Amino acid sequence: MVSTDTSLTISEPRLATRAELSRVHSSDYIDDVLDRHVTGQWSGARPDLSELAALFAGGTLVALDSLLAGKAKTAIHFPGAKHHAQYDYSSGFCVFADFALAADIATKDFSKKVAILDFDAHHGDGTENLTADNPNVLTFSIHEKGIFPGTGNSSLAGKSVYNYPLGDQGNEGEVGKGDEALLRGVTRFCELANEFNADLLFIAAGADGHAEDPLSSLQFTVGGYVAAAKYLREKFPDTPILIGGAGGYLPDSSTPEVWAAFSAAVA
Ligand SMILES: [Zn+2]
Repeated sequence: MVSTDTSLTISEPRLATRAELSRVHSSDYIDDVLDRHVTGQWSGARPDLSELAALFAGGTLVALDSLLAGKAKTAIHFPGAKHHAQYDYSSGFCVFADFALAADIATKDFSKKVAILDFDAHHGDGTENLTADNPNVLTFSIHEKGIFPGTGNSSLAGKSVYNYPLGDQGNEGEVGKGDEALLRGVTRFCELANEFNADLLFIAAGADGHAEDPLSSLQFTVGGYVAAAKYLREKFPDTPILIGGAGGYLPDSSTPEVWAAFSAAVA
């Protein structure tokens, strides 16, 4: 889904190709998924799910294309931002690392600098691992300290890898929870992305930090997500922004509400 200043354009996703996936995944792993239809995320051979995984990755590339072609300033792909997928294994419901793949293409084929903000409740470990050695990618993950996958407790400024773990107020190195903590993290991201001279922003807009979501205790509200979105657009009025949905575990209530409200406020 792509928005321009005055209109909304719906684009069809496509399957990511083997050559594209090989930019961020091992060939053995791609064979496992695409040929043998297996990963650790499901049991048995599931051709339907392996095709869906390739479609999720391809959809993010369609969204990226619309930004690179100047057709849109905001591109939204809710099945995107599978941020736990790693080089040669799947993890945390994530099979192919679409954000890392899109960043690889944008930086190496189009000479762009990409800053990735991930405010899913869980650390964006896959995206971070797969882009850490790319000097033209900055990652910044806001997540709940101590929950899956358990990483993301420190930053590596030399590699433009930043983590902003949130925990209970008062503990060492932790900066509280709730909407104020989210906005503080987003503010810090904007400072860093500005210093980095980012040409493109990717946002892993996980909805699982919502107060009602069972997978976290971050206590974010829809109003907090909207405030973060408005702040981001205010700081980067002309920068193309790619939004992926990442996680969210209330499919009939707060998850789509967060995604819709956040994306509308960015667009
Ligand atoms: Zn998550």
